[in-house]
Amino acid sequence: MMTLPTKDTTVLYPNGTVDTQSTVLYSEVLPDGRSAVLLDVTCVHPVDAGWPDQGPDIALLHHGAAFWPVDDCIVGATDGTTLFTGADIPVAKKTPGWAFVVVHVVDAAGLNAGDTVTVEVDEGLRDSTSAGHTACHLASLALNGALADRWKKEVRLDALGQPDFDGLAIDESLIGQNASVDTYRLGKSLRKKGFSVEGLAAAAPEIETSINAMLAEWVTTDAAVRIDCDGDLLTDRRYWVCDLPGTSVRIPCGGTHVRSLGMLGTVSVTLSLDELEGTPILTMNTFASR
Ligand SMILES: [Zn+2]
Repeated sequence: MMTLPTKDTTVLYPNGTVDTQSTVLYSEVLPDGRSAVLLDVTCVHPVDAGWPDQGPDIALLHHGAAFWPVDDCIVGATDGTTLFTGADIPVAKKTPGWAFVVVHVVDAAGLNAGDTVTVEVDEGLRDSTSAGHTACHLASLALNGALADRWKKEVRLDALGQPDFDGLAIDESLIGQNASVDTYRLGKSLRKKGFSVEGLAAAAPEIETSINAMLAEWVTTDAAVRIDCDGDLLTDRRYWVCDLPGTSVRIPCGGTHVRSLGMLGTVSVTLSLDELEGTPILTMNTFASR
């Protein structure tokens, strides 16, 4: 008899782990015929429903001579009777009585509670995604710096003490392989907060140049990057920490990262300004050429 876990999954991906031994706690056949497998501990990065910036790892679960490719890996939550996933999760993280779990979706049944599995993450995808994620954080800090003089009022500051354009305007952030795409809405509410969009399109090439110069300076320092964790459970708070010259930057982040900025090669961005139903949209594409 399999019962749903009452404790969050222990996660090892924040420190860069790509393989581990685990015990199957639960598995359930999903309506689409695939199976949801829950482990006590995993190194597979799941996509988060609330802020799905970094996608799932590609991975295999080995048991004996058999193996199950992980088709998808998503955050789930359970009250002990039902397993909810993605947008169906009805409660916030850390809600008492609920466990937040990493759901490994595999295409065939066969794994049972108590089975020992070896979890193996595709290192190539993990590495390039980690580079994309680190580059994304750096680029948003550089963007905040390049846009700092456009704020006419005091607003909240980022980890470098600059007006936090990224935090205030971000609409969507998508991490890819050695790349990321950030979309910002420059709508009425942002302008009310004091952000000036005047002449932004004309200034974009100059802003781009200034961001790229900042990025080059940071990457040259080969500053160390690490993840600080309040604990090793899925819902424990984690922070991206990077020792930039003169200051150590700390940003809440649930993703994976490279260990130093030198591993990014050359980081550069391109900016584009569009309009969606009357609202200006700024898109920043970031690339790490490694
Ligand atoms: Zn992040």
